[in-house]
Amino acid sequence: MNWAPGTQCVAKCDNRKAKPGELLYHKGDILTIVDTSTRKGFYAARHNTTEEEGLINSSNVREREALRVDPGLSLMPWFHGKISGPTAVGKLQPPQDGLFLVRESIRHPGDYVLCVSFSKEVFHYRVIYQDNKLTIDNQQYFYNLIDMIEFYSKTKGSLVTTLVTPRKKQGAKSAEQELSKTGWLLDITKLILGENIGEGEFGAVYRGEYMGQMVAVKTIKCDVTAQAFMQETAVMTKLQHKNLVRLLGVILHKGLHIVTELMTKGNLVNFLRTRGRSVVGPAQLLRFSLDVCEGMEYLESKKLVHRDLAARNVLISDDSVAKVSDFGLAKMDSKETDKAKLPVKWTAPEALKKEKFSTKSDVWSYGVLLWEIFAYGRQPYPKMSLEEVKEKVEAGYRMEAPEDCPPGAYAIMKLCWEQEPRKRPGFSKLREKLEQELSKTSPSSAAGSQEAAKTGLRS
Ligand code: ADP
Repeated sequence: MNWAPGTQCVAKCDNRKAKPGELLYHKGDILTIVDTSTRKGFYAARHNTTEEEGLINSSNVREREALRVDPGLSLMPWFHGKISGPTAVGKLQPPQDGLFLVRESIRHPGDYVLCVSFSKEVFHYRVIYQDNKLTIDNQQYFYNLIDMIEFYSKTKGSLVTTLVTPRKKQGAKSAEQELSKTGWLLDITKLILGENIGEGEFGAVYRGEYMGQMVAVKTIKCDVTAQAFMQETAVMTKLQHKNLVRLLGVILHKGLHIVTELMTKGNLVNFLRTRGRSVVGPAQLLRFSLDVCEGMEYLESKKLVHRDLAARNVLISDDSVAKVSDFGLAKMDSKETDKAKLPVKWTAPEALKKEKFSTKSDVWSYGVLLWEIFAYGRQPYPKMSLEEVKEKVEAGYRMEAPEDCPPGAYAIMKLCWEQEPRKRPGFSKLREKLEQELSKTSPSSAAGSQEAAKTGLRS
């Protein structure tokens, strides 16, 4: 197996008596591959906890497993929703010091109550919501429940006891335990947080360093949003492709930190807008298009629908490879959508009207993304309102080719915008067409693209 440096893996057995140069580890420890080419049958690796480096026998490790996408997966398995005080007491039997749960008050909807078992009694602490923060005693304030439970698990504060054991809601699986078991939980003390590099809809994105690797960290403070992102994260643990932004792991601390590879050149829209025609040539535009197409071909093979494919959700790596990010809406099936949130200008007509999302609706979005690429990051359907776009597109209107767009590229866009989803090509077909286009632009660029990608000379 060919493992890239940075791959996290799990030890299948102990290596307690390490020979010189070898790494000491125990079964279940998480190790990071540093180099796979040092010695045959061995990898150089770093121990995620001891931070020591050394050789490991490659047959003694396995790659991290993907997290099962399970609606029961919860960052707050101790949260039981609306249940009464007596019901909560019932759930905390038999008594056990430090056994706890959180419920929503029935009498005061929206208010939370922390219930803790101690000395054979159950204590109920009302959580007060004040100035956007939570408190029990007007001394300690918290952004969210996760934050509060984290604090009282370490410190007793004004409670009768520190919190020891969560009483899990039926069907709830602790995300923390699952992440830790599978090797996706990272350690906050090993993270060096750097400058802010972007604002997402739900939280800021920072540059950072994790055990020597440059990373991006998306921070989500709101507990409800963090919970929703657990599903995105679980999906991401399943996916590995050179054209998808890679998940390195998550950190649970005051909400959720999602750690991914750092894409130093930012999102594709800004990349194109700030550089323009004089810097980025048509061959480079085609290579970006091909990169995204290959990422989508992989998603298609996994039967995943992205639902929010757009140039703003494509990021550019240091060596100018385009990768698809933001699987927030990606789902195995096509139920549940919030219509008001749909990106109208990117969404296929049948998805807008009948919520029919499929790989073929992703293909439509991909066509719009191609248009954005060849228009150097312009907003699609310039000067048209969302209502107008909806109406006209339904009636058969399609955008014109962007200025100086190669006719071949525009022809591909038009294929993606077939009214009938069945008539649109799949991503494999699109890839073939793009490869043909690329070989036409300059004889060397298609063959040279791989090499150029490695060296960073891609224009
Ligand atoms: P949202 O989907 O909530 O809008 P994003 O994940 O798109 O948030 O992040 C917002 C911005 O942060 C992006 O447009 C990009 O500029 C920056 N960003 C996000 N992830 C990374 C990353 N892995 N590397 C570099 N920059 C990133």
